[in-house]
Amino acid sequence: MSKKKAIKDNVTSELTYDYSIIKQMVEHTFKRKDKELNSTLISKILNDFSNEENSFSFASKLKNENIASSFIVYDSDTAYYLLGGYHSLKKHNGAGVFSLFNAIKEAKRRNLKTFDFEGSMLPEVEKYFRAFGGELTPYYTLNKASFLLETLLKKGHRSQFLNFIFMPLILRIDVDKPYGRKTVFEKIKSKLKEDYWFPKSDYLNYLKSNELLLNFCNKNKVKGIFYYRNCTTPNQLNRKLLKQGNHKLGFHAENTRSFETFKAEIDIFINANPDFNLHSFTKHGSGNVTIGKNHYAPYEPKKYLYWSQKIDIPYLFGNEICDSKQNFKEEYFIPKMFWIHRDYRSPKLNKIEELIEIAKNKTVPVIIHPSNFAANKHVFDDFTKLVTLASQNKIEWIIP
Ligand SMILES: [Zn+2]
Repeated sequence: MSKKKAIKDNVTSELTYDYSIIKQMVEHTFKRKDKELNSTLISKILNDFSNEENSFSFASKLKNENIASSFIVYDSDTAYYLLGGYHSLKKHNGAGVFSLFNAIKEAKRRNLKTFDFEGSMLPEVEKYFRAFGGELTPYYTLNKASFLLETLLKKGHRSQFLNFIFMPLILRIDVDKPYGRKTVFEKIKSKLKEDYWFPKSDYLNYLKSNELLLNFCNKNKVKGIFYYRNCTTPNQLNRKLLKQGNHKLGFHAENTRSFETFKAEIDIFINANPDFNLHSFTKHGSGNVTIGKNHYAPYEPKKYLYWSQKIDIPYLFGNEICDSKQNFKEEYFIPKMFWIHRDYRSPKLNKIEELIEIAKNKTVPVIIHPSNFAANKHVFDDFTKLVTLASQNKIEWIIP
């Protein structure tokens, strides 16, 4: 397996922006290995995302026929080896390495500082590039630490990349009950705190259920956006756990009667939490029932979207229930969510396994309430199942 052998056998390798070649080669490679190819995803990357400003590829040819190809995307300083493949019948030992070698040289020519193999979608890549041995190191120190997503998000490619390359889950947590709802005593304390005055006392287990959920998320490396009400505003321990787990802080709006009441409420929250940047807000309740003294029941998403522009704080998730995979479109505002509590699921889409299948191709938002996580066994079990399956299927938890 060498570049020299490729040259000796008259294999050529050329820069090309014709990405149909790489698509073909990747398909060949997957077919041979009997693996399922996520062709929608690959087409999205090659057709929708990639252009001559952010990617290139090298194709190796033998007797005018494409036999191997490497595909690279890049940002201001790093090249990412994303895809590689070779023809199953016209296999040549050096052709794949040759195209990759040229891709590395091209990255160097474009003044990219790092060449990153970590983003590759083919598991064999590591073995593949190890074949270079000494040839690679004079050019680059391999970047093992950085992960494609992190870097690209930081560079502001978020909107394109977020949905194209990764198959993510988004976790929304509405922190509704200050004192939980597992026991009658907890329910009474919660009600008093929601509607009247009641101390925020760690001794009385204020936000205990959210503490359980935060610990669970942190242990399992699940990131989420935690939406608090003013009556559930985070205590010291919650703040510490939020920061430890790289979660985001959001506001769960109650008094949405008018822009003024909403603004007054969110300002109180922002002032109470100066050590966080407010990520976004959600609305408490789904329409009919008034829950809590300050709660204005109607659910009016259009109004909130307008307000969100006015105050420049995103409103990303609605309170509706998903019933089809068509609900998960790549849009700024996602009206329908998957609820971890079974009472809020459509019979048309209610299995965790089904959701995992969808999340392999689409961005899927799920919602959980900490008090239910602590009080209902099925909520705990289903969430555990989702987290486990997501990890087994390499589905990321992301924050939009
Ligand atoms: Zn709520």
